Amino acid sequence: MAVKLGKGVLRMHNKNEFMEQLRQRGYKLTKQRQAILGVLMDLEKPLATAQHIFEKVVEINPGINFSTVYRNLDVLEQEGIVRKIAFDQGAAYYELIDGKHHHHLICKSCGKVQCVEYCPLRDMPMKEGFVPTDHSFEVFGFCKECMQAKLMDDERRKGKE
Ligand SMILES: [Zn+2]
Ligand SMILES: [Zn+2]
Ligand SMILES: [Zn+2]
Repeated sequence: MAVKLGKGVLRMHNKNEFMEQLRQRGYKLTKQRQAILGVLMDLEKPLATAQHIFEKVVEINPGINFSTVYRNLDVLEQEGIVRKIAFDQGAAYYELIDGKHHHHLICKSCGKVQCVEYCPLRDMPMKEGFVPTDHSFEVFGFCKECMQAKLMDDERRKGKE
């Protein structure tokens, strides 16, 4: 099975297409909404927290407050433009639903997120009559760099003994 690892995902839609989708659903195309979408499209990381998105939006739209950004992320989630991934511990992450369907490998040490274009749902046996509409699948562990640092740390500790 070919598993492709990549830092980011190619964008298949542009901002105007998302804005048009919102307009058709009866939402006002406020400057704030446009700024938030713009930030989501330009994220350098695959996943971002609401706080991170807020900090970027403030650079474009200085008057905006955190709850406005948060509420807008909720709207985008309801409209199927943004996916919210809530982990057990810590803040939820957001990403645009765009590009190829994929899942995530998340480093527990440095927080790096890598996208994997493989979906376990395809191989999962379904119960008769069950129609899946949504799913999330995230794998936690240590990235290559953090694993190497950990091993070196262990070596160093052993040397001292
Ligand atoms: Zn992703
Ligand atoms: Zn790491
Ligand atoms: Zn999937």
